[in-house]
This record gives sequence, structure tokens and C-alpha cells, in this order.
Amino acid sequence: MKLNMDMVMLPKLVKKLPKKDKKIFHRIFEVEVVVGRLKIPPTLKSFAKERFGSLKAVKKQTIVKVVNKVTFEGAFYNQLRALRTAKKQETQPPTFTEEKCMLCNPKNQTAEDVFGRIESAYTTTAANIAKYDGWHSLIIPRKHNPLKLSLKELLDGFKTAVQWFKRVNREDSRAVFPYLIWNCLWRAGASQNHSHFQVMMSRKPYPKPEYLRLCMERYRETYGSNYLQDLYHIHRVLGLGLTYGGVKVFVYLTPIKEKEVFMFTHNWNRNLPKVIHKVLEAYKSLNVYSFNLSMVFPPAKKVNGWDDFPYIVRIVDRGLLNQNVSDIGAMELYASSIIASNPFNIAERIKGFLASP
Ligand SMILES: [Zn+2]
Repeated sequence: MKLNMDMVMLPKLVKKLPKKDKKIFHRIFEVEVVVGRLKIPPTLKSFAKERFGSLKAVKKQTIVKVVNKVTFEGAFYNQLRALRTAKKQETQPPTFTEEKCMLCNPKNQTAEDVFGRIESAYTTTAANIAKYDGWHSLIIPRKHNPLKLSLKELLDGFKTAVQWFKRVNREDSRAVFPYLIWNCLWRAGASQNHSHFQVMMSRKPYPKPEYLRLCMERYRETYGSNYLQDLYHIHRVLGLGLTYGGVKVFVYLTPIKEKEVFMFTHNWNRNLPKVIHKVLEAYKSLNVYSFNLSMVFPPAKKVNGWDDFPYIVRIVDRGLLNQNVSDIGAMELYASSIIASNPFNIAERIKGFLASP
């Protein structure tokens, strides 16, 4: 794959695929390329040139609109939009004064689950003080700075989460749907800087994973094929994905927002946290310090229709820490995601990190 691939070249790239891959691509995705034109008054020329580099690029803009016809996720790509922001990219990771925050002192400063805390080498647990589900708690690594979590600490955190799910299931055998999220720093919705993941366990699946499962089911009924395997396959042949230790990883063509990485596996072992750690290293190399991570687990016991459901992790960039403007607006909430980054570049970066020891 050439390094200078970009979304404008996607239709050509798809055309060159072998027939069977083309068929898979077209049953999942629809691509529309449109051109937006505009006139620039002389008084705006110097501003436009300075901000976007070239007047020509502004006067005639190509927008690549990708729709996932299976899930109805959409992404409209215009790389010109990456240049809109006036703020400079941070090139240094944020530093945190090692003030003693509440999560630095969980024993006295956080609530406890009714069954107590789960303690491990690098992690402890706490009940969320304002829950959004009956079972909703925190996995708290002892390390304050979330950007400095080592692979060991990450593994320990996820292992503790699994123990927490098991403990909850013992307490409430009908709670079988585990879910883990990580909102890293304020752009991603975190109210505390200190490293922490949130874990939930519910009796019914959450609506978005359930919707994905229904899409997978419908896909199997229509095409007799596994949706996630096909989705991965098509990203891999386009140069956007690879398999690492059994984990299928790809930079998603219809991301929820910038630089979204999608991964799934049927096996719970250290490879998944390892890939997550590498992806986050790649993120940091791109000056991404605030991100959301979602980890959907297969149910804790057999549930009809969920037999084939893997562990699914999605990670998304939430924008510059020094930027006041939100990265999402009405388009993302109600219509389609607007994307400025180039998934081919992100994929190359992630492949590089996964190839390093
Ligand atoms: Zn702290």
C-alpha cells in the first residue's frame, strides 16, 4: 500500500479488487464522491490561502461519502476540514501535577461496592457514586496519569474488570451483559484525570451492541456470511487492517469520529490488551491524548442469538486537549460523521506500531 493513499482514491482502489472482494465491499458499503464549489472574494483570498494552503483546493473540494449499508453508519470525508482549526497541535503529551486526587486515595475518597473492593497488584475497584446502571463501578489503576499506563497495568486493569464481572454475576445471576468503557481525559467526557475505566453489568444488552448484533444476524440471513469477518476482510484487502495474535484490527471506513480503530476477537487473552496498548501508543505518536474506548463482551452465560458474538473494542480520538470547540455537532448526533483524517495514514501508523516488538 502506498503511503500517499487517500479517501479520494477509494473508488479506484475498490475497482481494482478481485471480483469476490468487490462483491463484499459493495454489499457493505456505498461510496459517493461529490464536489463542492465556491467563489472566494478578493478580500478573503489571503486568509483562505494562509489557512488552507491553496485557493484551488478551496474553490473545488472533493467530499467522499461512505455509508455502511448494513449498520447505517456514515462518514463524510473532506481532508480540507483538518486545516480549519486555528489552534496549533500539541506536540507534547500533557503533564499532570502529581497532586493527590480523590482516585489517588480510593479507600477514603471513593464509594465501595456492596460486596467490597477487588484489589490487585496495580488496580483497585470502587462503586460509581452516581450510577447510570444498577451495576456500575470503576476500575482504578493506582497510576494517576492515564497516558503513562504500562501494558502490565493495562492488563491488570482489564483482568480486574473481568473479576468484577464475575463477582457481580455471583451477586445477581441475571446480570449477564458486561461492558467496559474508558473515557480518557476531559475531551472524552472524563470528570477525573486519574486513570479509570468504568464497568457495567446489565440484565439486558445495551441498545447499540444489540443493534449491531441484529445487523450481524440479518447479514448472515441475507448473505450466508459472517458480517464482522467480511468487514475485517474488506478492510484488510484495502490496506486498512491486519490480524495480530488472533485480534482483527482495522481503521474503520465509517468511523463514529476521527481515527476510529475497530478490533474484535473470540479469545480473551493478553493479545487484546496488547493490541489496545499498541494502538494507544500509535495514537500518542499522532498527538492523540484524549480518546473513548468501548469494550463489549460476549454475555456471561448462554443467551439466544449471542453465541457467535466476539469481544469488540472500538477506540476513537476526541480531539485536541487545548481545543474549546467540541469535535461533534448535530451532524454526528443525528445524521452522519464528518471526518477530516485519512484512514490510510492511520492504518500505516498502527501497522508500524504493531510490527515493533
Ligand atoms: Zn490521582
